[in-house]
Amino acid sequence: MSTAQLIDLRSDTVTQPDAEMRRVMATAPVGDDVIDVDPTVDRLQRTIAEVLGLEAAMFMPSGTMTNQVAVRLHCRPGDEFLCEEGCHIYNYEQGAFAQLSGTIARTVIGRRSVLSVEQLQDLIRPDNEHAVRTRLLCLENTHNRGGGVVLPLENVRSVTGWAKANGLACHLDGARLFNAVVATGVTASEWASHFDTVSVCFSKGLGAPVGSALLGPRALINEMRRHRKLFGGGMRQSGIIAAGALYALEHNIPRLQQDHVHAQLLADAVRSSGVLQLDPEVVDTNIVIFRVDTAGWTAADFCQAAKQRGVWLLPFSRRHVRAVTHLHIREEDALRAGKIVAELAASGPQTN
Ligand SMILES: *Cc1c(COP(=O)(O)O)cnc(C)c1O
Repeated sequence: MSTAQLIDLRSDTVTQPDAEMRRVMATAPVGDDVIDVDPTVDRLQRTIAEVLGLEAAMFMPSGTMTNQVAVRLHCRPGDEFLCEEGCHIYNYEQGAFAQLSGTIARTVIGRRSVLSVEQLQDLIRPDNEHAVRTRLLCLENTHNRGGGVVLPLENVRSVTGWAKANGLACHLDGARLFNAVVATGVTASEWASHFDTVSVCFSKGLGAPVGSALLGPRALINEMRRHRKLFGGGMRQSGIIAAGALYALEHNIPRLQQDHVHAQLLADAVRSSGVLQLDPEVVDTNIVIFRVDTAGWTAADFCQAAKQRGVWLLPFSRRHVRAVTHLHIREEDALRAGKIVAELAASGPQTN
């Protein structure tokens, strides 16, 4: 089977720009955003800042860079930040916070990926020469490794309130913040209002080919720009890609709802298999993670067998498989993928 025919559920990053997105990218007015300004980047930055209700935004090539610039903004070498143990900043960015900024992460295992004040309140280091300095709290919403769970707004309020009262800055990795917006009806600016800095990705469910933004107060923008340049993220005629991000932002937020509906169809298929186990059991947004060892499979073998039948999934651990819905997945694709997953569950691994 050619990869073009596969139902690709590996990630919501696999989407291709459609003809109209490509047209607006090709025709976008551009400048030199390192010398001074690119008009399309400027428009994107103003637009996303307005959507999130924060003062200023800076366009960067990736969410890894926006997160790492945020860590560097809030922390000096030898400082520590608190984060949930499954978070992207800790697990999927090569420990860049240590490699690039000399900082330390202190991880805490959340309940369904959600941290509580009770868990955090004794973790601020004492102010003496033996200890690193605790500076920052990082949250992730929706939580990727947590299976796309939405952090409850009340919880975000309480832990960030605690952090601020104790002198910590707060950063939100909102790579999939708009999935949380659509799932809850809580506006992006309400979510963002609890943080000093917020990172959002245009290249996940929104379907742009490239780019993320880091948002925060205007007073931090010069430092943000310095760190972006240091990390190699100063880009010239970047309006070409910013135009795709702007198009995604203007057109693709409401339709995330469909991705969530399609994820529920997949979750239903996993549940109805009787042997596969959703983990977490509740699917909040567009990510479905399930155990396959309960049906005798390893994740790698399950994904290989699924691919032979036309469904591309991601092994997420030795036992877990991940499926992510996105703008190329139609209802019929989700139903078909669910049917194949259920069939593999019933057949078990074939031994030859
Ligand atoms: C994808 C993602 C990022 C950023 O990833 P890049 O590939 O560097 O753009 C950051 N945080 C989370 C939670 C993500 O899922």
